Amino acid sequence: MDKQKLEYFRNLLLQQRRQAIEDLRANRAIALEDIDGVDDSGEMSELNLNRSTALTLASRQSQLIEEIDEALGRIEDGTYGQCSRCGKPLDEERLKAMPTAKYDAECQAAIEAAQGIATPTL
Ligand SMILES: [Zn+2]
Repeated sequence: MDKQKLEYFRNLLLQQRRQAIEDLRANRAIALEDIDGVDDSGEMSELNLNRSTALTLASRQSQLIEEIDEALGRIEDGTYGQCSRCGKPLDEERLKAMPTAKYDAECQAAIEAAQGIATPTL
């Protein structure tokens, strides 16, 4: 991949990283919100639901940040845009949609199948 394209994906990843950090902070704040002073049980369970949703989102976002950091590392060491399994170049459209992609569609499907995750049929 040429320098210009790498720079494009690096910016894309940095942008996503900033967004993910913001979202992570917001969700953590909700998850840790002080529930003192709430005595209505309906309001309480709604609050708990919000908190557990926020926690789920927060853990997804921290995972995303890790993936972004890994992708940025691959840009640094020159392996970005190659499938980590078979070494084939990744489809650029795929990378644009998911700049943290590590595998091409074929390997991704094989890995998911091996993990027993059902691949959605399109
Ligand atoms: Zn592959």
